[in-house]
Amino acid sequence: LRNDIDLPTHFMTDEQQALADQAGKFFMSEFHHLNAEMDDTDDLPPSVFPKLGEMGYLGLNVPPEFGGAGLDFTSACIITEQMSRASAAIGLTHVAHDNLCVNNIYRNANDDLRRKYLPGLCNGTLIGALGLTEPGAGSDALGSMRTTAKKDGDDYILNGAKIYITNGPIADLVLVYAKTSPEKGAKGISA
Ligand SMILES: Cc1cc2nc3c(=O)[nH]c(=O)nc-3n(C[C@H](O)[C@H](O)[C@H](O)COP(=O)(O)OP(=O)(O)OC[C@H]3O[C@@H](n4cnc5c(N)ncnc54)[C@H](O)[C@@H]3O)c2cc1C
Repeated sequence: LRNDIDLPTHFMTDEQQALADQAGKFFMSEFHHLNAEMDDTDDLPPSVFPKLGEMGYLGLNVPPEFGGAGLDFTSACIITEQMSRASAAIGLTHVAHDNLCVNNIYRNANDDLRRKYLPGLCNGTLIGALGLTEPGAGSDALGSMRTTAKKDGDDYILNGAKIYITNGPIADLVLVYAKTSPEKGAKGISA
């Protein structure tokens, strides 16, 4: 890995550059040395998410009232880029948690669900994932989806199969996409 390459910085403000420098140094010192171990074990060291939470790198786009960092999307991209330079694996695990799951819940869930899940997802005690793709539903995920969710009292019964779900094996919370009104086709899907 080359650390001496000058990245183009002309598009960043001084504040964004400072954020990139600070995040880059932290990720390089904390995460880069874990890459060989993760390749060997095919697993994520349990210290990673609590450390990200402690340093304020979870819930990047979630307001502080729900435990997040309250940053804009450009800042989140800068942090993701720096994290991925230090460890592509941790960069991907983080973006699946933080954008696909956490920001999705913040933007789309009601306040009860936000208050129930976001604080833990933002402090690193809960790991999140998003389950959309299926063995027969990739690029055309919404059109070809077969997983269904049927209401049963206070619960939903899920039937189906998902594949390629980043963080799937380690997640505490999976935001699953399923057909709740199959007769409505791609418009009958809930998360
Ligand atoms: C590293 C990684 C992490 C992932 N994480 C997640 C996750 O966290 N959650 C989740 O839900 N999913 C996840 N996925 C799944 C990802 O979203 C799917 O792989 C993606 O949607 C493509 O689907 P597919 O693999 O079934 O490929 P396919 O849809 O079968 O596509 C195969 C090829 O056919 C081409 N193709 C497809 N349709 C057409 C068309 N109509 N016209 C022309 N060409 C076409 C595609 O461009 C591609 O080259 C992940 C995938 C990867 C690789």
